[in-house]
Amino acid sequence: MPESNDILEIRQSVRQLCAKYGEDYWLQLDRDRGFPTEFVSELTQSGFLTVLIPEEYGGAGLGVYEASIIMEEVCRSGAHAGACHAQMYVMGSVLRHGSETQKKTYLPKIAAGELRLQSFGVTEPTTGTDTTSLKTMARRDGDNYIINGQKVWISRIEHSDLMVLLARTTDKKEVTKKTDGLSAFIVDVGAAVGNGLEIQPIESMINHHSCELFFDDLVLPKANLLGEEGKGFKVILDGMNAERILIGAECVGDGRYFIDKASAYARDRRVFGRPIGQNQGVQFPIARCYTEVEAAWLMVEKAAKMFDAGESCGAEANMAKMLASEASWHAGDVCMQTHGGFAFAKEYHIERKFRETRLYQIAPISTNLILSFIGEHVLDLPRSF
Ligand SMILES: Cc1cc2nc3c(=O)[nH]c(=O)nc-3n(C[C@H](O)[C@H](O)[C@H](O)COP(=O)(O)OP(=O)(O)OC[C@H]3O[C@@H](n4cnc5c(N)ncnc54)[C@H](O)[C@@H]3O)c2cc1C
Repeated sequence: MPESNDILEIRQSVRQLCAKYGEDYWLQLDRDRGFPTEFVSELTQSGFLTVLIPEEYGGAGLGVYEASIIMEEVCRSGAHAGACHAQMYVMGSVLRHGSETQKKTYLPKIAAGELRLQSFGVTEPTTGTDTTSLKTMARRDGDNYIINGQKVWISRIEHSDLMVLLARTTDKKEVTKKTDGLSAFIVDVGAAVGNGLEIQPIESMINHHSCELFFDDLVLPKANLLGEEGKGFKVILDGMNAERILIGAECVGDGRYFIDKASAYARDRRVFGRPIGQNQGVQFPIARCYTEVEAAWLMVEKAAKMFDAGESCGAEANMAKMLASEASWHAGDVCMQTHGGFAFAKEYHIERKFRETRLYQIAPISTNLILSFIGEHVLDLPRSF
């Protein structure tokens, strides 16, 4: 189906904005491990990063479908969306589960770009994907909670004013359902650092600004509890479908970027007296990747539209993310192969995107966990763990 004029306008505007931040900008940031502050700020001020915030709180009140179009365009431009994408969806936890006071306090400022909510703290070094076994404890003490524990891979926290944190308020042994006893909190990062929160950046393969966090008696006021005590797993879970759809859209953007690059190079590069793209051995892999990426986009589109219609879309969101992350990785690999030795030269930008798009088969959720979700919840196969 052709896209509506509104969607085409969004695409055009995002494309124009991204064109100001060319690939050399991203290459330099990758080299310096810098943060794209100007880019994030312009994307926020132009209203693109805040489209999911309802109009009453100062956002555009658009859906995940429009948000997917934005993230897809950002990635197709050669940008590294991982540096900013969470600003788009982490606020969903506040929107869906925050009290009216929390919503009024945070959402208008996030929409105006005065507050950055870029960070969410779930993963822990010793428990990984097994989220309900996480060990960070939030102990109630009068009108406060005292936080102790450790998190790992918490991205963008050094560039965020707020973080949504998941911790246990009741020990796993004392709850009947393992998803109970977890609680979500809003952490004022500036106030916490040096007062019970220590942040240590992790040197990693991509410029994702991920950190290890150490909590040592961090005091959080009770007012920072997000949703009900003990029901924090749902606070996090409810945001996951939107996150997976948006990551799927980013992967489609990456995939289209690789296909654009590979096709252009295959048309131009002449070896043995003809364009390399004239050889079917070069042409067919690109055509195959194009087919895979476009098929993945259909699933992203389907999941996004179901999400916006309020329909249950767990399976579609998971399938979209899995298909798109595999398609973008395959397209990256073929783009590398098409460029031959030049693929390794940083000035061609491909190796950076190749590293960046690899993440999405692992985070925010790995492929095996998606397959196990489909096996158990869609195909009614026995639960494996
Ligand atoms: C760059 C980066 C940024 C990140 N940003 C954030 C962030 O901002 N906030 C945050 O909270 N987390 C973040 N993460 C963490 C990310 O969500 C986790 O790395 C991811 O969920 C996988 O967890 P793990 O690394 O502990 O892997 P593990 O849970 O140790 O799993 C390792 C491997 O074993 C497989 N596996 C495990 N159990 C099973 C099973 N039962 N059946 C089949 N296979 C299984 C997994 O699929 C995986 O491939 C980030 C990670 C990275 C690398």
